[in-house]
Amino acid sequence: MSIDTEGRKTREVCAEDIALQQQYIEKVKELNFLSAAQKGKPKHYSISTFGCQMNENDSERLAGMLNAMGYTETGDIQQSDIILYNTCCVRENAELKVYGHLGALKKLKRENPDLVIAVCGCMMQQSEVVEHIRQKYGHVDLIFGTHNLYRFPELLHKALVHKETVIDIWESSGVIAENMPITRKESVKAWITVMYGCNNFCSYCIVPYVRGRERSRRVDDIVNEVKTLGRQGYKEITLLGQNVNSYGKDFGDSTDFADLLEKVNEVEGISRIRFMTSHPKDLSDKLIEAMRNCEKVCEHLHLPVQAGSSKVLKEMNRKYTKEQYLDLVSRIRARIPGISLTTDIIVGFPGETEEDFEDTLSVLKQVRFDMAYTFLYSKRTGTPAAKRPEQVPEEIKKQRFDRLLEVQNKISKEINDGLLHKEVEVLVEGLSKNSARKYSGRTRTNKIVNFKGSNELVGKLVKVRIEKIHTWSLEGTII
Ligand code: SF4
Repeated sequence: MSIDTEGRKTREVCAEDIALQQQYIEKVKELNFLSAAQKGKPKHYSISTFGCQMNENDSERLAGMLNAMGYTETGDIQQSDIILYNTCCVRENAELKVYGHLGALKKLKRENPDLVIAVCGCMMQQSEVVEHIRQKYGHVDLIFGTHNLYRFPELLHKALVHKETVIDIWESSGVIAENMPITRKESVKAWITVMYGCNNFCSYCIVPYVRGRERSRRVDDIVNEVKTLGRQGYKEITLLGQNVNSYGKDFGDSTDFADLLEKVNEVEGISRIRFMTSHPKDLSDKLIEAMRNCEKVCEHLHLPVQAGSSKVLKEMNRKYTKEQYLDLVSRIRARIPGISLTTDIIVGFPGETEEDFEDTLSVLKQVRFDMAYTFLYSKRTGTPAAKRPEQVPEEIKKQRFDRLLEVQNKISKEINDGLLHKEVEVLVEGLSKNSARKYSGRTRTNKIVNFKGSNELVGKLVKVRIEKIHTWSLEGTII
């Protein structure tokens, strides 16, 4: 295997690997064709995805490969010939759910020995998890990780032909697999992963251990994917990475995320560009300028602060202080007036005192985020923070969490109140999840708006006058 100095497999080796997977796609397709001829029905699959949008995007790739191999998606696991779990290990309760699902499939596997049960994703990058599944869930047929996802056709073929458990986990990889099939879940908005891995090692986070070091996709590959989406009628794209602000650092030249935004902004057909997640320490003035100048880049930024106390931020290894974060927010707001800001906050990090928590509340009040995603700190085995002795008692964490939510909900509602009777531009996404008779879309500032509409409007930009305000959404009428 030829690997260049930064650990990135050469494009030629990747191309060979991918060509091999195309051959396995054909082989499995042939097996399925024969099976369908014998049994008189095609094969079905179901995928359950846990965790973040990057996992969702990975599942779209797995779905693309399965469709190319002749499987059809079904939401019913009883009808499935392959049941696949794409797992997340950021929170322990998501892991417990996966074990629960696997346990419940024992009976199904007994009744249908041809059923293939597969698990992949971040959880599988932890050797103790794989061992646990091997020992306790012997009915699982295929286990693979995050680095070799693109080799799914080959691994599935092995499991189908040899009828034995296939386990294939790579500790790391420089492979960036381009041009694999993909079946996207949505038709108006699309996720595009622009980089993989993370170099930051925040002390509470398992991601760098299971997703490896940062690897950026090449600008041309991303732009080509966006052009394809534009031709297919997609209107909005979200560029994804654990920390998109460090995009390109592994190239060894000056290319950065601001350059990528400018290139993507030129693609025809696409109306809106979003991105996530941004690490405050890497958000440059050049990127703020690019956001301001690229007319398709929406006026919304998700900028996780995680805590308001500089002491806690240091212990989290976030590499910025409260003051630096506030200064960054001021610079962003000065250049992009009206931008909406959302954030992530962890409540009850080990050693968090009442004073530290008050600091978090003060940041909330000073910044006035449009929305905050708040999490109770929970120990993640394998991370430095989990080993710290001064864990905050659950009861105190919950009390702080409720206090934080109360402050934030009030701010969110007040900000939304400012939109009453205003006209906003909405990209119509489809039927509302909360009301069968209404349609739903988002403003450029990422606010959900529900309104009466029709199917012809899906994928169109419309003007809506806001008539009713809720904490998390808005209601209005198309004008
Ligand atoms: S930036 Fe920190 S929190 Fe985000 S993925 Fe990397 S290590 Fe985890």
